Amino acid sequence: MVAKADDFLDTTTGAIVPPIQPSTTFARDDRYEPINPANVYTRDCNPTFLPAENIIAELEGGDACALFASGMAAVAAVFYTLTTGSHAVIPGAMYWGVLSWTRAYCDRVGIVLSEYDPASIDSLEAALEGHAKTDLIWVETPSNPLMGVTDLSEVARIAERVGALMVVDNTTATPVFTQPIKHGAHIVMHSATKSLNGHSDVLAGALVTSDENLPAWQLIKQERHGAGALPGSFEAWLLQRGLRTLYLRVERAAATTQWLAEKLQAHDAVSGVMYPGLPTDPGHETAKKQMHGGFGSLLSFEVIGGRENALAVAGALQLIVSGTSLGGVETLIEHRHSVEPPETCLPENLLRLAVGIEDKKDLWDDLEQALAKLT
Ligand SMILES: *Cc1c(COP(=O)(O)O)cnc(C)c1O
Repeated sequence: MVAKADDFLDTTTGAIVPPIQPSTTFARDDRYEPINPANVYTRDCNPTFLPAENIIAELEGGDACALFASGMAAVAAVFYTLTTGSHAVIPGAMYWGVLSWTRAYCDRVGIVLSEYDPASIDSLEAALEGHAKTDLIWVETPSNPLMGVTDLSEVARIAERVGALMVVDNTTATPVFTQPIKHGAHIVMHSATKSLNGHSDVLAGALVTSDENLPAWQLIKQERHGAGALPGSFEAWLLQRGLRTLYLRVERAAATTQWLAEKLQAHDAVSGVMYPGLPTDPGHETAKKQMHGGFGSLLSFEVIGGRENALAVAGALQLIVSGTSLGGVETLIEHRHSVEPPETCLPENLLRLAVGIEDKKDLWDDLEQALAKLT
């Protein structure tokens, strides 16, 4: 845990908050040398990126961090390191945007893609079978929205054996609870749009490497500079500000989620709750090994009956907002089946709850009055 968000202090003004540097270009001196060799052009680096990058790298226990324009831009930067004929393995149930983009991209460029059940190491082993070489193993734990828990140390052991790059999407767990690099991951990915920024007002992504000398990291940095999927300096500045309250927000939201999960599980109108913090959850034991201090702020639950009942509950909520995304200060509910294409594996009676930092009693009162309509 870091005690201080960043060690910034402006020795000329005394300011304790880092400034925004909007300049896209940086001047050279009379010998044509850059005035500061770190700064030439913003597509390479902008000083406003550094506080957020340094904080995220430190939180994840990594060597370096690179910000991206979005979480998906960070995902894409990882897949751009692969070439035609590479073999990548991804969870068959995870954040829909990553699943649909990787399927389409790999198909188009001839990357061989296999899928595994994030809750089963055996299914990961099966996905590797028959491939002479696997280049990339992608992990998302707990997976969004079915909350499957993947054993990070087991995946690291397998990745080492087959010589694959292990990349973990740590958006739902956050570095507050899980640091995948400590469990053997090579690269950690974040949608910084979610808990890292935490205020639903910045779109950004981040990659953290365990080692700056990894060949894949060199390619990722080259790709970011070349293809230019960078955030703006205002977004990077807002992100470092959001990070300053990361622990307060995330610990509070996770404690509330645990409490709501238990309440929901005991409710007659709820037929199932998916949350690794529940002792009855199939992922609980694995989650306990790799999540410390909480189990995150995302849960899914199934209501009795079908689609109509799920939509009725979402529609009856007064405080909780129906909408996509997670990790913000406000609680959001989403009927994922309505927003994913018909081939989705998600049940129609499932609602995903992304818990914020409101008073937990207010949240439960709202859920209870909405669920009461079903019984
Ligand atoms: C939101 C999200 C992404 C994509 O990030 P964007 O910032 O929306 O591009 C990737 N993975 C997970 C788990 C997410 O929740």
